[in-house]
Amino acid sequence: MEQKNRERAMVLFSGGVDSTTCLAMAIERFGKEQVISLSVAYGQKHEKELAAARRILDYYQLDGITLDLTTIFTYSNCSLLSHSAEKLPAQSYQEQLRQTEGAPVSTYVPFRNGLFLSAAASVALSKECSCVFYGAHRDDAAGAAYPDCSETFYQAINTAIYEGSGRRMRVEAPFAGSSKTQVLEEGLRLKVPYELTWSCYAGREQPCGVCGTCIDRREAFLRNGVSDPKCG
Ligand SMILES: [Zn+2]
Repeated sequence: MEQKNRERAMVLFSGGVDSTTCLAMAIERFGKEQVISLSVAYGQKHEKELAAARRILDYYQLDGITLDLTTIFTYSNCSLLSHSAEKLPAQSYQEQLRQTEGAPVSTYVPFRNGLFLSAAASVALSKECSCVFYGAHRDDAAGAAYPDCSETFYQAINTAIYEGSGRRMRVEAPFAGSSKTQVLEEGLRLKVPYELTWSCYAGREQPCGVCGTCIDRREAFLRNGVSDPKCG
């Protein structure tokens, strides 16, 4: 009986460091039984992140929902997408931003978080959840690399989803004001199984070590004084 009144959360979950930390946070706050994960296939160049997401869900013994939104990105030449001829940049985000003159980086998937959060809110309402968690953090929004990770965007979409759901649903981005180093710090406290996560944009056997997200991940582990279990 008591279970019925407990709040339920949906976590937008990609199998990377940020969303896995978010998932662990939601499990701690709401209890495992009250958490639903939602992963999205969007035509990524490789299946590594979705495979990582499945391994992590097994670890936490959670069932997850996967949505396929690939068709929507048919017209995009974002370098993360399998049909795109664009090469993945082997540079840090700061280096890339020096060349984009204020535009997002080439790995920006057009309005991805807006789309995913709207889709998640719709599914979450049907599943009687009252919030959607997502793992955006300050570093990804810096210099407008990923504008849909910014705090402004988060506040705006939270308002839109809250109003559009009849004030039944809110969005939480617990790391919107945090750096990736702080995300990891929280995850280490929560004993997140980072060895199961996948961050790299390339789909090789091992992380490439030179793409923007590999560089950010390495820095965050270094700053926390621990080695990345994914890189031995
Ligand atoms: Zn990489």
